[in-house]
Amino acid sequence: MAEPLHSVDSLERTTPAHACIVCEREEVETFLDLGETALANKFRTRAELEEPEPHYPLRVGFCRECGHVQLTERVPPSAMFEDYLYISSASDTLRDHLHELSDVVVARFGLDATDLVVDIGCNDGTLLDGFQRHGVKTLGVDPARNLAGLGNSGVERYVGFFDSDSAVEIAERWGRAAAMTATNTFPHIPHVHDFVAGIDTVLAPGGAFVIEAHYVVDMLEQGAFDTIYHEHVSYWALAPMQRLFARHGFHVVNAERLPIHHGQLRATVMRVGEGTVQESVERLLTEERRLGVDNVETFERFADEVRRIKTDLLAMLAELRAQGKRVVGYGAPAKGNTLLAFLELGPRAIEYIVDRSPLKQGRFTPNAPIPVVHPDRLLEDQPDYVLLLAWNFAEEILEQQAEYRRQGGRFIVPVPRVRIIP
Ligand code: ZN
Repeated sequence: MAEPLHSVDSLERTTPAHACIVCEREEVETFLDLGETALANKFRTRAELEEPEPHYPLRVGFCRECGHVQLTERVPPSAMFEDYLYISSASDTLRDHLHELSDVVVARFGLDATDLVVDIGCNDGTLLDGFQRHGVKTLGVDPARNLAGLGNSGVERYVGFFDSDSAVEIAERWGRAAAMTATNTFPHIPHVHDFVAGIDTVLAPGGAFVIEAHYVVDMLEQGAFDTIYHEHVSYWALAPMQRLFARHGFHVVNAERLPIHHGQLRATVMRVGEGTVQESVERLLTEERRLGVDNVETFERFADEVRRIKTDLLAMLAELRAQGKRVVGYGAPAKGNTLLAFLELGPRAIEYIVDRSPLKQGRFTPNAPIPVVHPDRLLEDQPDYVLLLAWNFAEEILEQQAEYRRQGGRFIVPVPRVRIIP
């Protein structure tokens, strides 16, 4: 018997296939096909290796009408987010960053103990911990049942997807929010118009919605094709984002690029008539046009670069294998699985992967199963090379692994071009 489907899934079936999620026209053209892969966050237990693993096409396209970059085939969100293995507090860099974001929002909007902040996709509550340091009221929204007991137990939660229906319930139970946040969540949303309608319901007059998401410009500049996996329906540029919000009476009032992960976009959205549009918005739009983010040919060139990374890395790994070198991986982020699957790397090429997250240790990667173990293993058996899958945290990881490197261990960084770091 089929599991009861969430309303988002029912919507999934009524949306015409391949229509753009922003302008709803059918002008989306695939520019990169990464094959059929398993879900990037579905690390499996040993017992689960015996079970069939669903694979889905992973294709990304460009909308010729509005310029929005998006997956052309989508997986129902319930298959991805109700049991979730990514936790924000697993990285020191990310925790510090989220706390800094809470400081900025509290200061910019003068929030105090009478104000409510709603964080959509609150994960383990790391960002809301930051807000609680300022005495602000908080509510976290997240469909992941397995994360509800993690992190700060003082963070109140709504366990479910955020959409126009749950927004009504949230506003009734907790009241309207002075600020709403979504960090690394907004690109997950397939039904963006329904989502923004929900924001309109929950956000108090004068309130601000702050988005942090991977930025398509960074993806292009860094060859970061591993940002592409099924959870990430969208690869936002500012121009299509403005178009989306305009339809709901909102505008982007501030936009900035951040160094966190491999670069992110932080956009602040308010109702038209509220908030002053900062110069930063026009500056970024000009930059996007200069880089050709509004042109499909830019993305076709990007796809060529991605295929080159594959060729180069496979050649390097083959050479190392011929020399009898041992290669393992560092970091089990979802993005690592895009790279491993696209290059068809399994446990023969990468013996094991080390990762600090206790939720992933003892599990196996999706697709070809590579075991995930504790980082201490690196010093215990000193393999020759480590493929840096979590390359966006390169600095932090290289510093933590100073001893492994001192003993002769080397790191392979896959993007934007394949290189070795001693
Ligand atoms: Zn479009």
